Amino acid sequence: MPAAIKSELNQFMKGLIRRNPGELEFHQAVEEVAASVLPYILENRKYRDAQILERMTEPDRIVIFRVTWEDDKGRVRANRAWRVQFNNSIGPYKGGFRFHPSVTLSVLKFLGFEQVFKNSLTGLPMGGAKGGSNFNPKGKSEREVMRYCQSLMIELHRHIGEDTDVPAGDIGVGAREISFLFGQYKRLENRFTGILTGKGLSFGGSLVRKEATGYGAVYFCQNMLERNGDSLEGKNVAVSGSGNVAIYTVEKALELGAKVLTISDSSGFIYDPDGIDAEKLEAIKDLKEVQRKRIHTYTNLFPKAEFHEGKRPWHVPCQIAFPCATQNELNEEEAKALLSNGLMAIAEGANMPTEPGGIRTFRDAGILYAPGKAANAGGVAVSGLEQSQNALRLSWSRDEVDAKLKHIMRDIHEKCVLNGKQEDGTVDYVQGANLSGFIKVAEAMLAYGVV
Ligand code: NDP
Repeated sequence: MPAAIKSELNQFMKGLIRRNPGELEFHQAVEEVAASVLPYILENRKYRDAQILERMTEPDRIVIFRVTWEDDKGRVRANRAWRVQFNNSIGPYKGGFRFHPSVTLSVLKFLGFEQVFKNSLTGLPMGGAKGGSNFNPKGKSEREVMRYCQSLMIELHRHIGEDTDVPAGDIGVGAREISFLFGQYKRLENRFTGILTGKGLSFGGSLVRKEATGYGAVYFCQNMLERNGDSLEGKNVAVSGSGNVAIYTVEKALELGAKVLTISDSSGFIYDPDGIDAEKLEAIKDLKEVQRKRIHTYTNLFPKAEFHEGKRPWHVPCQIAFPCATQNELNEEEAKALLSNGLMAIAEGANMPTEPGGIRTFRDAGILYAPGKAANAGGVAVSGLEQSQNALRLSWSRDEVDAKLKHIMRDIHEKCVLNGKQEDGTVDYVQGANLSGFIKVAEAMLAYGVV
């Protein structure tokens, strides 16, 4: 990075850290974007004069509230929830809701900030937001989760709406939680309207929404490989996570002829030397989505597989990696191990799963590296399509939605190539995604004047 840009970046980050002390994940997400867009801002005075980056890194508003609920033993419990409405320059706020004990304001600000760029990349009219709570759904009964969702919606319903803010799921918030939240919203507002996405198919959900993030990540990876005259066919693949994104990443990778060797959860990872085939994937869906069991129980069903407790899958030799669990789950040492074992492409299903040292390692090595805001945008894209179907009061077929998803992922890939192409013909997908996402939002903000 040229010295002038580096000094500008350091100065910008100093101010941001001073204004947002202790918010490490937020600092990390902003620094990555700022490093990509600052050269462009310095070349284009209009963005600099309008303080666009300073304004983009300050959320429009944050709502923080208490959620009080009663557990099955009749004890009163209290949790904290947030909704970070980051930027609605190009459309109503849109972004998931996360239930996990690790949720903090910093985590939600990083996710909301990334969401602004991701939503811009989809080409759909969606602003960026993120919400969450430090509630831990693990070990809670179905009724406890229901009461929690209902209590949360009593406050949240004041801040959302189909033209204001449309939340969706994320870690710990799947079909079950979205259903409880939607049922409560409908009761409070006496209106049946698309204020959440990821809904059940019988009440306004879209076909392919559940699969969209994972499928989209694989489509994006296939686009990168195709540009290099290659494909997923016959490649060994490592996947982390065993939630919504991971499961449908595995499904699409299998369909495209890859061999998937790993899957994981926060307790460790499964290595299946024979590959996780379609039949085994159905067993995983049953374990995780129906029985809500831990991933190590896979070895009870398939004894040839190994469970590596407390470990992550990044030392397993593979050509393609899909981190699909959570932020900062792949460090520099693991990135080096992946490279020395023959990694050629990585597409992030999760948000910010690679630590900065790992990103540097992948970019320096010149392999195909797709950051989450591009690779996992398929989820929010189909959420946008769900909103369109709700507004039109109709439902598109599975093939129609899948074709639109494929088209959107191809379009995002082309935008990344356009703004990330290097002199030697390779593509810096980080720069491509950040710059493409930035320009659209920045232009809208400039058009609004000083707001
Ligand atoms: P799920 O809750 O369905 O699954 C999350 C998976 O990640 C689980 O296997 C979970 O294991 C694992 N995990 C969670 N926290 C940790 C941790 N600290 N360390 C190791 N493993 C962990 O969530 P999703 O699949 O929906 O989301 C996964 C990622 O994808 C997140 O980064 C999310 O923001 C991102 N994403 C999701 C989208 C969506 O449409 N759902 C859209 C775009 C991005 P365990 O059960 O042990 O906690």
